[in-house]
Amino acid sequence: MGVRRRAGLFILQVNPILCDGFGHCGELAPELVKMDEWGYPIINPEPVPFTNTGAHESARYAERGCPRQALRIRKISDK
Ligand code: SF4
Repeated sequence: MGVRRRAGLFILQVNPILCDGFGHCGELAPELVKMDEWGYPIINPEPVPFTNTGAHESARYAERGCPRQALRIRKISDK
């Protein structure tokens, strides 16, 4: 049995109330997150396919690595 790939698109979302601007997410997912001049994340607003395994893995690292649990991977499309 082969590995099933998830279809659809996701975005990484930040809860600005929880985020304290430590900037780990910019290190863990540099292709999805840039930091502003105060160290707060600017998240790429473009949906990313789950089949982009590198970006999805980075998003999962950032989600797990955020010390404030301010990040969430949100599925926005099934196709
Ligand atoms: S790692 Fe979490 S708390 Fe730190 S800047 Fe990113 S979203 Fe904010």
